[in-house]
Amino acid sequence: MIKGPMVHAPLEFRLQPGGSRAGDGCFLRCPKCDTQAAIRRSERPTPTVTQMDCICSNTACGHTWRADIVFVHSISPGLIDRPDLALPVCPREDAVHVVPPPRATDPSAPTFFEDGNSAA
Ligand SMILES: [Zn+2]
Repeated sequence: MIKGPMVHAPLEFRLQPGGSRAGDGCFLRCPKCDTQAAIRRSERPTPTVTQMDCICSNTACGHTWRADIVFVHSISPGLIDRPDLALPVCPREDAVHVVPPPRATDPSAPTFFEDGNSAA
């Protein structure tokens, strides 16, 4: 299935744990009270499904639940061939272009593309 040398490099995908540090960027919110939630346990029953047991960080709520992350489609199929998974690819016209936010500009900061005195 996978040809060529492989390096063992497990992907660490850390999700925001919830609580005050996560703020508005937390990964999960409680469906009952909309407070940040934490993932207490997860398992991957299939290559395209991850199941998580979640707990609300609001002590007055205390809701726990199971949530799934389910593969929808590839945006770019990558270089590893896995025909056994039959992963659909997103139509090109439906691809969402996600780009980093513009940097805050400091007018006094030098740039590589600065025109004027320092350029040759
Ligand atoms: Zn809650």
